[in-house]
Amino acid sequence: MGKSGSSKITYGICVCGNVKMSGKRRCAACSRSYQAFVQPSRDQRAREGKCPRCANGFLIPGGKGKKCETCYLKDTADRHLKDRSRWQELKALFESRPFDPYTGIPLYLGKNTELDHIIPVSVGGTEDLENLQWLHEHVNQLKSNYPVDEFLRHLDVLVSARTEFLKQSALLLTLEGPVF
Ligand SMILES: [Zn+2]
Ligand SMILES: [Zn+2]
Repeated sequence: MGKSGSSKITYGICVCGNVKMSGKRRCAACSRSYQAFVQPSRDQRAREGKCPRCANGFLIPGGKGKKCETCYLKDTADRHLKDRSRWQELKALFESRPFDPYTGIPLYLGKNTELDHIIPVSVGGTEDLENLQWLHEHVNQLKSNYPVDEFLRHLDVLVSARTEFLKQSALLLTLEGPVF
C-alpha cells in the first residue's frame, strides 16, 4: 500500500527473456502461444460443464462467464488490477460487505457484481484496497467514472424525478383513463 497518484505499470522479465508487465506471468508473445496451447483442453472442460481454467466442477450458479468463483476473482484481479495474485484481497473485500453499498442489493460474486474504483483511476484513484469496492453491476454502470458525491447527486435527482413522474402518470391515468 502507500502508493500515491495514478497507478503506474512496472515491468519484469519473461522466461523467454522479453520484457513483461509485472503481475503478468508471461510476455505478450508467450502469453499468446500459451493460450493457443491450453485452449483445446479449456474447451473440453467447458463442454464437460467444468471451470475451463481450473477444472473445478462448482461453477457460479447463473454466472455469466461459466467459471468458478476463484477464477472469476482471479480474472477480475487481472483485468482491473493487472495482478491475478490479488484475488484473495478481492474475496475478503466481498466477504466484508456482500451487498451494494448504495442500494443494499445483495451481491452474488460473478453473477451481478462489478469491481469499482471509489475514486476513479482517471482522476488519480489508486488500486489500493481502500479505493476498491464491489457494486451491483447496474449501479456501477450508472456510477461510471463519477466521483461518489457526484454520482449520488445524480442518482437522487433521477430517483426523485422518476418517482414524481410515475405519480403524475398514475394520476393522469385515473383522471382520463388509459391514453392508448
Ligand atoms: Zn516471453
Ligand atoms: Zn476455476
